[in-house]
Amino acid sequence: MPNRPKPVLRLAEEDERQLRRALLAWHRRHALKAPWRTSGDPYHVLVAAVMAQQTQISRVLLKFDEFIAAFPTVEALARARTARVLRVWEGMGYNLRALRLHRAAKLIVRRGGFPRAAGELEQIEGIGPFTAAIISSFAFREPAAAVDTNVRRVVARLSGDVDFTLSDRDVQPAANALISRRAPGRWNQAIMDLGGRVCVSRSPKCDVCPIARWCRSRPKLAKRAHKIGERRAGYKPQPPFAGSRRYYRGRIVQALRELPASGSLSPRQLARRLDIRAGELSDLLAALQRDGLVRIESNGRVLLP
Ligand code: SF4
Repeated sequence: MPNRPKPVLRLAEEDERQLRRALLAWHRRHALKAPWRTSGDPYHVLVAAVMAQQTQISRVLLKFDEFIAAFPTVEALARARTARVLRVWEGMGYNLRALRLHRAAKLIVRRGGFPRAAGELEQIEGIGPFTAAIISSFAFREPAAAVDTNVRRVVARLSGDVDFTLSDRDVQPAANALISRRAPGRWNQAIMDLGGRVCVSRSPKCDVCPIARWCRSRPKLAKRAHKIGERRAGYKPQPPFAGSRRYYRGRIVQALRELPASGSLSPRQLARRLDIRAGELSDLLAALQRDGLVRIESNGRVLLP
């Protein structure tokens, strides 16, 4: 028999109502301001969600406007050449994300636009449950609870799970129960922001937390704050280690980006620029070509697709 989700947070209806009110009131004063949160455009939410994977929000804020200026609609992105998308993506790292975003845009246009329901959005290749939930709730006001690292932490702690033993599968039903039906997009933003600013992984700021009254971890954390902080250090993207595969992959794409449109480099030129052996380079190029990030012509010259 498949394992059932563990029972998580159970609150009386009135407590749930008060908790929602308290968090939404806090959010009115402390919301992270971002254009994709208020535009109501599902394409904006999709772009921001893909950009925000493994990238700090401050960098997303810098790049988002430039990307939308280059590709103002999902149709414009779907029509664009891959090489142009990769050029505009410059500075964001993890170039495969640009390809996935481009592919998702094509699929969305092919099916005639964005579906509203998170379940249908998830059927589109490149759109996971979290991205589907934020598109559905921010743009279409559907009650789809988004669970990312921050939300998982808040819900787990509210439930008294200070050691984070609950899985996404356990947390999702509690997140679904908590979501505000009247303002699902704002609710998702509020709980994400609380996890990002107050209920942080190291030293949660319980003293200023607007929902501390309902939190079962607060008393335990008061005793264990120090140990918890060390054990649950938050994820921070690491810069690629110089000399690693990821480092060279990024440098190859960057070298091609810097060429004029349709410009190409021979493997020898690339090997010289990167100071890398021919054998290693050809292995990296084959993998990049398989991923759709570069094109290798019959004469061996390499260019963006
Ligand atoms: S009281 Fe503390 S642990 Fe509980 S939700 Fe608030 S910040 Fe997180």
